Amino acid sequence: MTPSMNTSQTDPKGPSMTTDRCTAAHSEDPTPCAGPHDAVTILDAGGTTVTGCEHHGARLLASLDGARVEPGTVLGAATRVFAAADGIHPFPWLVDAPRTTPGQLSAAANRAAEQDRLAAEATNYREDIDPDLFPPELFTSDGR
Ligand SMILES: [Zn+2]
Repeated sequence: MTPSMNTSQTDPKGPSMTTDRCTAAHSEDPTPCAGPHDAVTILDAGGTTVTGCEHHGARLLASLDGARVEPGTVLGAATRVFAAADGIHPFPWLVDAPRTTPGQLSAAANRAAEQDRLAAEATNYREDIDPDLFPPELFTSDGR
């Protein structure tokens, strides 16, 4: 999911195909910038800051453990970058990288996996309960 990342600003015929890219763009990331190069500021866990466009800001935020985004020159950009980064796998330009462990998956994918794990655990737990001790009507989900 890359909302607001595939706008006309990423048109390969546009001015963003120049070698002039924002400082948030990773050297191995071939994608062009989208919008102003100081739309947001990304801070890593150590406090180092870089400014970037919304596109590369989101990709960098998704790739750095403990990083955060702060507003730059574009109103609302930090919120959009925060939301977009949630669905982006770390280092998304590594297209052949494995995507199986939590550190290789997006925050959204990790939350979904945790929900699946908890649902399976709950199912297993219910199957272990002695039905004579806890009648099934106690386990309704309709709030009664
Ligand atoms: Zn950029």
